[in-house]
Amino acid sequence: MQLIQPFTGSPLKLRLARDLVRSLRRGHPWVFADALRQRPRAAPGSHAVLLDNKKGRRVAAGYYDPKNPIAFRVCTLAPGELINNRWAQTQFERALALRRALFDVTMTGFRLFNGEGDGVPGLICDIYGGTGVIQLDGAGPRGFWHLPGIAAWLAETLSLQCVYERYQSRRAGTGQTLIGQPPVEPVFFIENGVSFTADVMRGQKTGFFLDQRENRQRIRSLSAGRQVLNIFGYTGGFSVYAGLGGAGHVTTVDSAGPALMVANDHWQLNGLSPAQHQTVRADAFAFLETAARKSERWNLVISDPPSFATSQAALPKALQAYQNLIAAGASVTAGDGLLAVASCSSHVKLAAFLNACQEGISAAGRRATLLGSYGQPADHPTPLAFPEFQYLKFILLRVN
Ligand code: SAH
Repeated sequence: MQLIQPFTGSPLKLRLARDLVRSLRRGHPWVFADALRQRPRAAPGSHAVLLDNKKGRRVAAGYYDPKNPIAFRVCTLAPGELINNRWAQTQFERALALRRALFDVTMTGFRLFNGEGDGVPGLICDIYGGTGVIQLDGAGPRGFWHLPGIAAWLAETLSLQCVYERYQSRRAGTGQTLIGQPPVEPVFFIENGVSFTADVMRGQKTGFFLDQRENRQRIRSLSAGRQVLNIFGYTGGFSVYAGLGGAGHVTTVDSAGPALMVANDHWQLNGLSPAQHQTVRADAFAFLETAARKSERWNLVISDPPSFATSQAALPKALQAYQNLIAAGASVTAGDGLLAVASCSSHVKLAAFLNACQEGISAAGRRATLLGSYGQPADHPTPLAFPEFQYLKFILLRVN
């Protein structure tokens, strides 16, 4: 099967302008444009060999995009290894073997390919039951990977009925069907025995937040008998786990009405009583302010907002926003209640986020105990030497 675009001729030779060899050998998978000595004109995704800045010796083979700040992505560091279908096949099989080791067959929602973390630079693939959803990180990956062949490999290897490419554009509903019928209906899948659906064409990300799976499990184990508030609740992932964990009542808040309708569907899909779930369409900050004014309290509060820092420049403002949100969340957390706060921005480092927690809790006039600090699950792997890829933080606090 053709997994990468056919490439004829010899790969481009790209010379480093700086000594990045040590960091590349440790597994950092990117070279930025300003670290290359020259940037020849070439089609995005052209095969390239990276040479060091001193003697011009080969460091890595990979692919090149002259128009992207990420100018070169590493495919292999092995001396002399060729980038071809056989190489791609090996990467795919390694990625699949990891998921087979992590999950049994009842887990039908998971990330199969996590780009650089799986040695398949720029390529993401999420599986929801019989549907695979691919995402490519820009023109370089699009020029390098061969979508029809990948779709065929996925369909055959995982017995999928549908493979869909979700375009990177933030505009929902843009993508193309590669195999099968367009996935217009919500796609059913099971995670830890819990039933969900993903809106593959219009939902956030590829349709669901698979990256919070383990944190949802944590919430399930802590929910018995609690009044739970799930803000930025989307389609109710945390809410349903809380309900299944024996929560007395769950309130799901989101600004998106359609997501809340799905949250109710998910609640009922799992046999939970509608009387124990309430959805509120509101701005999370306004909701928390009103609730605090009315002295409403919950003894488990979950806050998983969208990324507040989409660039490094936005970081100071974002940290302030996280801090305000944590303060607002703490204000509606009952004494000795639990507060779980997440950040999915890669620009926000764990230490900075913990500091925002400290400041936020203090601003609310409370104190807290750190019960745990968690991140993304193993089906979202990252190269150890590439901390930029560890984006998810999930901090569990007991608020005194
Ligand atoms: N916790 C969810 C994912 C949350 S994604 C899960 O595990 O599935 C972030 C959600 O925040 C989106 O559903 C989005 O609609 C919502 N959102 C964004 N800004 C908001 C705001 N100001 N107030 C309330 N919800 C908001």
